[in-house]
Amino acid sequence: MKNSDLFINELDYADLNAEGAVEHLRGALRFATTSYVDTSRIRYEAFESFQAYLRETYPKVFSAAEVKRIGYSLLLRLPGQNAQLKPALFMAHQDVVPVVPGTEGNWTHGPFSGDLADGMIWGRGAMDIKEMLVGILESAEYLLGHHKSFERTVYLFFGEDEETCSTGVRAAAGYLKEHGIELEFVLDEGAGDVMDAADYGARGELVCPIGVFEKGYVDMKLSVKAQGGHSSNPFHGTSLGTLSRGITAIIDHLPEAHLSDSVFTALERLKPHMTDMHMLDMVNRRDEPALIEWFLAHESLYHLVQTTAAPTMIQGGSAAGNVMPQDMEAVINFRLTNYDTPESLLAHCRQLAGSEVQCSLVQQICASRPSDTDAYGYRQLVPVLEHYFDRLIFIPAQNRGATDARHFECVCRCVLRFGPFLEEEEVSREGIHGTNERISVRAYLQGIRVLTRFMEKTCVTAEKIEDRMENQE
Ligand SMILES: [Zn+2]
Repeated sequence: MKNSDLFINELDYADLNAEGAVEHLRGALRFATTSYVDTSRIRYEAFESFQAYLRETYPKVFSAAEVKRIGYSLLLRLPGQNAQLKPALFMAHQDVVPVVPGTEGNWTHGPFSGDLADGMIWGRGAMDIKEMLVGILESAEYLLGHHKSFERTVYLFFGEDEETCSTGVRAAAGYLKEHGIELEFVLDEGAGDVMDAADYGARGELVCPIGVFEKGYVDMKLSVKAQGGHSSNPFHGTSLGTLSRGITAIIDHLPEAHLSDSVFTALERLKPHMTDMHMLDMVNRRDEPALIEWFLAHESLYHLVQTTAAPTMIQGGSAAGNVMPQDMEAVINFRLTNYDTPESLLAHCRQLAGSEVQCSLVQQICASRPSDTDAYGYRQLVPVLEHYFDRLIFIPAQNRGATDARHFECVCRCVLRFGPFLEEEEVSREGIHGTNERISVRAYLQGIRVLTRFMEKTCVTAEKIEDRMENQE
């Protein structure tokens, strides 16, 4: 089955300028707003001309908004009528990852062509994440065209360096915090995979996660000092042996697994659909140890309850079979649940690795704060998604990758990661950060309908919506 078979209500917003929306995305994909960690390689003139293009393409939004530029990031404020309502924030990023040098020729349509062929729009950023950036602007432009203004103040944020160091979003979040602005909800890219719910005990049902938090990230270095020497006398062992034992001890004794509230919420949501009586029984009894054991045994679930460890780098092995290695180093990459912090993990690993192995943190990001699934934003988003995607059961989950959204957690309790552009899995897998990035016109337009309805329901008043219905009749 294809994801597009799940699309329903595609005739909504019949007066949405679909052809125009497609042209606007094609245009946006032609700007090579590529992000590099080495900022001297960034072509800022591409960002300048991309922004000029957006201003020209979305005149209603840009004339209604107070536009603040922070570096090359854009923070737009569309003032709402009702000051009692906390503002909402919709976001995406302007930057795209580089096209790997030498792979340009492998693209069926050039990475910055914006070609439209076989029902697909082609180019770097078509799925990550210019479709959402342009989609948000399409929605706001459409709604302003019909309602003139919003009831709730809406912020739009388009960062410049999400793919690298996130300076833009830090500055924007800092600005809101400094001005005492609290947000009702944030909507950013993320999650959106469709999966069979078999592992949840509901075979044949389809679940789709809404990202409500992100795991933490730690690169931990393990080092062992040694003199080396002739391998015929390994009385004290070798650095390689000691390092290996340290790594094994750590990955065999990960910090305790936990079932978070969002996992329980997901299980409660799926309960009516569960056909596996054992699973249903565990959920009914809220049998945490048994559920954890179940989750840990399933590839699609274990990372939801467990801080994971992946040894990824090793350095310093001997160059010859009869020579003992000298100093050696390894790196283990961890993804942390919100029950562990980089510091608690470091203490845990030091104890396991033994006195001969030095453990230190090379990179560390705490897990983000899980958003409240009872919050207004989450409660409004789910029915909108159900309106446009048949059969999907939406559940709260962790976001797979890291996004800029976490930086707004200091001003918001409900930070949602959900890109409503449900492309077929093989297309996303190949295209996102890869070759032949593209999006189907159908997935793109359906995503815009979701954004429009969500923005309309949450940020435009009910009376005004009724007005419009009457006008249309
Ligand atoms: Zn992205």
